[in-house]
Order: sequence, then C-alpha cells, then structure tokens
Amino acid sequence: MYEIVIRKGKEKILVRHNPWVFTGAIKKVSPSFTDAGLAEVLSEDGQFIAYGWYDEKSHITLHLLSWNRRIIPDEGWLEERINDAVRRRKVLASSEDTDAMRLIHGEADFIPGLALDIYNGHLKAIISSRYAQDHLDVIRNALQKAVNYKTITIIPDSFYAPSEGLSRRVLSFDRDGNSIENGKENIRFRESGIYYEIEPGISQKSGFYCDQRDNRNIVEKYANGRTVLDACSFTGAFTLHCLRGRAESVHAVDSSQSALRHLLYQIHLNENEKILPSDSREKVTIEEANVFAYMRSAEENRYDMIILDPPKLASTKSKLENALKAYKDLNRMAMLKIKPDGIIATFSCSGSLTKEAFRMMVSYAASDAGVEIQILEQMSAGCDHPVRISLPESEYLKGLLIRVIK
Ligand code: SAH
Repeated sequence: MYEIVIRKGKEKILVRHNPWVFTGAIKKVSPSFTDAGLAEVLSEDGQFIAYGWYDEKSHITLHLLSWNRRIIPDEGWLEERINDAVRRRKVLASSEDTDAMRLIHGEADFIPGLALDIYNGHLKAIISSRYAQDHLDVIRNALQKAVNYKTITIIPDSFYAPSEGLSRRVLSFDRDGNSIENGKENIRFRESGIYYEIEPGISQKSGFYCDQRDNRNIVEKYANGRTVLDACSFTGAFTLHCLRGRAESVHAVDSSQSALRHLLYQIHLNENEKILPSDSREKVTIEEANVFAYMRSAEENRYDMIILDPPKLASTKSKLENALKAYKDLNRMAMLKIKPDGIIATFSCSGSLTKEAFRMMVSYAASDAGVEIQILEQMSAGCDHPVRISLPESEYLKGLLIRVIK
C-alpha cells in the first residue's frame, strides 16, 4: 500500500469527506508510483485521514474511499458498496411505466468511475476510471448476486478513456457470465410510459440518458400548442414528450445523423404502441447540424419553446472557462431567436460547473441578449442520481426552465 502525505491546509476539505485529491495537495508519496493501487493517506503531522486509490496518471490523482482506519477498501468493501447502491434503488424499482434507471452513480454511491444503468433487465456499465476497470471482475461477480439481470455490457467512457488509459473494448456477458457478441438486438424499455429502444453501437455511452427523466415530464407540461426546437435532441426523448404534450411541431437538431434517424424510428414505435397520436411523425423535422452554427443562423421568432441540452462542454475543471463562454453563447442566441414570452429549457451536465455558476451564466446571457428572464422550474437529475453533498461535482446535471420576456 502507498503512503501519501497531504500538504498542510489541504487536508481540511478531505477530512470532511471530499473524495478527490489533485496533485497539488500531495506532499509525498512512498514508495514512488509504479501502478495504480491502494494508499493510506496521512496529514503532515502523521494523522490518518483516509484510505484511497492512487493513480498518478489519472486526472484525479487520488480518490479517497474509506475514512475509517479499521475499514480497508478491499474487494469485500467494494462488493458491499455495490450491494448498498442496488438495495437503495429497490424502493424506486416498482414503477409501472418505467423500467430504466441508474443503479450505481459513481462516487455519489462511493464507487469511483462506475455508472450502472438498467434498461428492462439489461445492464449497461460505463467505466470512467482505472479503479473501476481494475476491479471489473469484482464488480461483475457482485452484480451477478445483487441484480437479476439478463445481460451486462461494459462500455469505456469515451471522454475519459484516453486520459485514464482505459481499454477501448466494449464487452457483453449473459447472466451466467458467458461472453456474448455485443449488438445484435435492440433493447426495448419504457420511461414514463414512452417506449424507447437502445440500438447496440449507437453511442459510446449507455445509449440513453435516464438522468433527464423528471425534466422530460416537466417540459411535456409546457409543450401544448408550441413550436419546439429540440437542440441536441440525441434520439429524441424530449421530442417524444413534447409530442405527447401536444406540441404544434418539433424541429430536432443534432450533430449525429444516426441519433436523428433513431429519433424518427422511436416516433413510429410509439405511434404503433398508441402512446403518441397518429399524426406525430408529420409534426417532426430533423436536421443534422452543429448546434452553435444552427442557432446563429436560425430564423427569429420561429420557435416558442427551445430545449438546449448540449453535451458535457467542460469535461474537467481546466476546460471550464471556455465551456462557460460556449454555454453563454448558446443561451444568448436562443434568447435572441425565441418568440417573446417563449420558454427555454436549458441544461448543463458538466460536473465542474456549479448550479450557481450555471444560473449566473444564464443571467449574463440574458443581459447580453437584452431580455428579462423568469425562472419557472429548477431542474436536476432524478433521485436515482443522488447528489453526494461532500462531492459538489456530483450535482452535475442542472437545468432551468425559463420564460424569455422581451
Ligand atoms: N437531449 C438528449 C440528450 C442529449 S446528449 C436526450 O434527452 O436524450 C447531447 C447530444 O448532443 C448528443 O446527441 C450529441 O450527438 C449532440 N451533440 C454533441 N455536440 C454537438 C454539436 N456541436 N452540435 C449539435 N449536437 C451536438
């Protein structure tokens, strides 16, 4: 086990259970780094702080795991964390019209770099740290016991795979642990009564964003009679909700042609299942475009509802400043283009952007656009994506539903 000494003063936030330690906080490591592994973490005056996982190559050098000197975060510890996370979701599992949710939410569930979703019995694990990758066997064994699943697919996070040195291979296994070929059949599931299918290979992530579940229902309430722009639509979950909410029309814009094609397929699916009215398909147009270029050239006063759900623009703290400019630019353009009294549902899923900074960004965008804003709804990820209060970054998804007054 490594022994790591934290610089004086830097331990204050760590003893309050903030789990992330960056290189600047580390005074000494012994022996010197060879490969990722467990560490005992001490203050400069030799007091025990926590056990953690040390990986000098990672953008988060040290993840703290256990603050109890008697509890070493070994394989048994990890298995317990997995069981706990799954058990805590059991109360949510019984909903009639939803069979998709997040079972493990990374470090908010005390497991660095492991996000696990279930879609109608199929598990999708997204791996974003060496800790999760190095413990894949333990994770798979624990899940076999804790969850009654049909298949599990393990997907390296495309954002972090290069910097974390993760394997690029997607692996799939059946219930008995036999390797299966990834990607033969679509997985069909329901969220809030709407049918979706995940096409194997459609994306580097799980193929669906179940963190927006509650917000889709909120947006649906405002859709009636509106001309909607679904910007960064992906496979159209917001579009489908707007259609169910009787929107006048929806224009879906995304940079991914395959996502847009799948969006159209999912409208048919829900028309066939009688979830959506039969005139839904004719209300929808799609456009493959860069959202920034699209917003710049979009016609003024065409839309009275705009959904802005861009990808994670700040994947790490160092990218935050540029990301903020991009978020502000996008929001300012939407405010300029929307009809007076129009509704914008604006989101950011960057963990390094705080809720306060996000709100500030929206307010600066409004003053640049020369408009007034009323906040109608404040949005976040659903309760299967808990926010760990000692890790502010776990409050990664924030959204505001605003009225633009001109
Ligand atoms: N709103 C979606 C999720 C959006 S995820 C839902 O509810 O399911 C972000 C989407 O942005 C992805 O589909 C990605 O293809 C798209 N995207 C990424 N960069 C983009 C860009 N520059 N312009 C347009 N779309 C972009």
